[in-house]
Amino acid sequence: MTTTQQLALPLPTTPPPDLWGVVVDGVLLNSLGTAAGNWWAKSAAQFHRSGKLRCLLVLPIGAVEEIGPFSRDDAEFARDHLVESGVHPRAVKARRWTEQPHMPGCRKAKPCRLCAPPTA
Ligand SMILES: [Zn+2]
Repeated sequence: MTTTQQLALPLPTTPPPDLWGVVVDGVLLNSLGTAAGNWWAKSAAQFHRSGKLRCLLVLPIGAVEEIGPFSRDDAEFARDHLVESGVHPRAVKARRWTEQPHMPGCRKAKPCRLCAPPTA
């Protein structure tokens, strides 16, 4: 074996692990008018600080946000935790993480024009 071969980076032999995110519908949460909306606002700030939150949609009455990426187990744990904390089950959904943030309800995994962030 030559030195060059020893220095060569190993080629990845396994695909990257599945990444999952949890979409939180703050619009629905706020329209329900429960205390969970306030609780989520505080939690979202914590996720934001740790770089685990991205915004999908902002409306005057609330925002739809996605936390992640997580492993599937962690995403399901986070979803259950949110529901146990009073967030309505319909306002929280675990889904596969995508490179481009997609609107809630979009089923595409690859970048799509519908959800493309507007260019300034
Ligand atoms: Zn999309």
